[in-house]
Amino acid sequence: MTADIDINGARLLGRLDQFAEIGATARGGVNRQALTELDREARSLLAGLAATRGFAVFQDPVANLFIRRSGRDDRAPPLLIGSHLDSQPAGGRFDGALGTLSAFEVLESLEDAGIETDRAIEVVAWTNEEGCRFAPGCMGSSAFSARAIPAEWPDFVATDGAVFGDELRETLEALPQAAMRDLGMPVHAYLEVHIEQGPSLEKDDIPIGIVTGIQGTRWLQVNVSGQTAHAGTTALSYRRDPLRAMISALDTLYSTVMPQDESARFTIGRIEVEPGAINAIPALARCTIDIRHPDPLAINRLNVTIEQCFRERAEAQRCEVLFKRSFDMPPATFPEKLLTVLERAAEGTGLATKRMVSGAFHDALFVNRIAPSAMIFVPCRDGLSHNEAEYTAPGHVVSGARLLLQSTIELAKG
Ligand SMILES: [Zn+2]
Repeated sequence: MTADIDINGARLLGRLDQFAEIGATARGGVNRQALTELDREARSLLAGLAATRGFAVFQDPVANLFIRRSGRDDRAPPLLIGSHLDSQPAGGRFDGALGTLSAFEVLESLEDAGIETDRAIEVVAWTNEEGCRFAPGCMGSSAFSARAIPAEWPDFVATDGAVFGDELRETLEALPQAAMRDLGMPVHAYLEVHIEQGPSLEKDDIPIGIVTGIQGTRWLQVNVSGQTAHAGTTALSYRRDPLRAMISALDTLYSTVMPQDESARFTIGRIEVEPGAINAIPALARCTIDIRHPDPLAINRLNVTIEQCFRERAEAQRCEVLFKRSFDMPPATFPEKLLTVLERAAEGTGLATKRMVSGAFHDALFVNRIAPSAMIFVPCRDGLSHNEAEYTAPGHVVSGARLLLQSTIELAKG
């Protein structure tokens, strides 16, 4: 069942154009990095549009921006819908803006149709999703979920020399009309529309991806140590060559990890040897390993397999191996109940869907820690994103927002 109401597609497409002017680049993209003057301009524009429609505007201490349309029961936790407004330095006009403006279009469509909902609906624009000016990414949604801003953040220095604490304060001060609220709150559920940032929907000619979760990432630092020795005088039986051990282990892992599991990702991005002389056996070989998988148990299994393989090969070369975990982001699994709501709404709207895992991080990963969350993906041309040429066809923009509207109406019930 879907409600007899639709979004205003022309208005949404117009808004996307309007926001793409803020930080527009010569090649048709957007450079609107987090907490810059341009980011403030986009936030102000959205807050102004909200005020015109009579919606309440709030911000929290990490400058997440909220636009609230009240419901019959204003004490019930709100349904949250949105995304982010910041971009990559050579970013596209859809990454983030699409989800935020689709959410705002849902609010306006409900207002136009005079539909009252049981619970309040809030549009959110999360702060610094991209993480390119200030790392890490998803600062707004992670602080919201943890109900705290980590003590070290205010001193973080941006790629352009700006200090996070100063930029955050100026951003908050630039929107005095937004009432200040505490960090974090009870949330009924969270929905986010986003471009896929990959080629799979376009390839299958399907307009909607129902995202089942976001894969987890673990980074390992591997050090294999042996003994440096003369390249000319050291016979094979005397060598303790850590590079040989590493190459042997990696060769096995390359030919097993991804070929045996299509959900697994295994990437070596950096290898270094010491002392690095052309005529010496290395004393030390170091590499980084990036493993990703939607299943947390599979990440642990992969980790064990990798360590075993390295130990074996190091032993064969009479070398030692040490592992250090430098980053660990568990996967998010979105609740089945919410996925079913999205699929039913898509069916009622006549939109074909397929389930998929997100390879990239999103704010929904963090919000899912405190409230049931889910994402709607729409196709983007050639799977291109974080690129000025990023493009999503108007029909897909409208489909994503239409599905968000119908799912929102369903979830805003009692
Ligand atoms: Zn994004």
